[in-house]
Amino acid sequence: TQPPRGASAWVEIDVAAIAANVRELRRRSSPAQLMAVVKADAYGHGVDVAARAALAGGAQWLGVAQLSEAIELRDSGIDAPLLSWIYPPEADLATAIRRDITLGIGARAHLASVARAARAVGRAATVHLKVDTGLGRGGVLEDLDAVLDDLAPLLAEGALTMGGTWSHFAFADAPDHPTVRAQQERFGEVLRLMEARGIPTGVAHLANSAATLTNPSAHFDMVRPGLAIYGLSPVPDLGRPEDFGLREAMRVRARLTTVKRARAGQGVSYAHQYVTDRDTVLGIVPVGYADGVPRSASSAGPVRVGERTLTVAGRICMDQFVVDLGPDFDGAEGDVVTLLGVGVAGEPTAQDWAVAAGTINYEIVTRMGPRLPRVVV
Ligand code: PLP
Repeated sequence: TQPPRGASAWVEIDVAAIAANVRELRRRSSPAQLMAVVKADAYGHGVDVAARAALAGGAQWLGVAQLSEAIELRDSGIDAPLLSWIYPPEADLATAIRRDITLGIGARAHLASVARAARAVGRAATVHLKVDTGLGRGGVLEDLDAVLDDLAPLLAEGALTMGGTWSHFAFADAPDHPTVRAQQERFGEVLRLMEARGIPTGVAHLANSAATLTNPSAHFDMVRPGLAIYGLSPVPDLGRPEDFGLREAMRVRARLTTVKRARAGQGVSYAHQYVTDRDTVLGIVPVGYADGVPRSASSAGPVRVGERTLTVAGRICMDQFVVDLGPDFDGAEGDVVTLLGVGVAGEPTAQDWAVAAGTINYEIVTRMGPRLPRVVV
């Protein structure tokens, strides 16, 4: 691996893996369309390259949370259909409409503000109505009838166009949880209710990665995976990425900045959580919690050094942590170590780090920070 010039730590993004993962998800879900969820800088992978790779792999849509993320994609020249579902009341919805950004409608108040912006622009805004089928987060819950009452005249007037109807699961990692079926049934009911009222549903979409992989009956007209696009398993208890035909797209690597001898009994890093039990060699890995390496994985996170997987020695600091390389270590400063890999040849995975940190693999990749340059491989 050639590190980027001057970088002591970096993130490698395998864009071919992202494209291949999307192709695999399309194979599993076609004829449903696929919206690649690229919010949060494409789960830390870099939105621009990840979005292009997802489109190359056959994604028809892109999905982001914040409107600012959608604008950024348009600014970078991506003209694919694009849904954004988080915006504040004072958002520049006129710009969103002008730039062909489809807006999620998660509450009754959104209808009026989007319609007002559409009138000002002189063009219909395309909306996807979000229904809360049981997540208890965004989406129309108790006031569905009132929202449909408001919606019908706005469609007739031409201020809004119904592009879609959608919802999101509460149990992403437990496809057999009873709420999954209940939410799916409720979603079907809402679609039928809209049809009965003569309101077009547009494209119906509900499935996140877990449902895309494990529950074909939830695919409807479009699936909406995020995590699986990046080659991570949304259901680590049920299968590893390769069991689903997926390949991790992110590696995190660093070069040892210091390699030094230490005596037995040497306290290591803040609060001496680790103490050497023999004369040994310590190595400093120049990434820390400011880069997204979770401090909660202190004395637990795995690091691949040569042919061995070692454990972080003691506390993870803001910019660095220590590994105990053992008395016979024959490497030197500048050696490349791998924090996150793709599981081959003993490389630790995001899932291994998630277990070490007491969190989920989503959080591990998403938090890899901007100080780590992204290198496309
Ligand atoms: N849809 C919505 C509304 C989301 O918030 C997310 C991510 O949290 C996704 C889809 C993608 O979910 P996943 O990454 O589990 O596939």
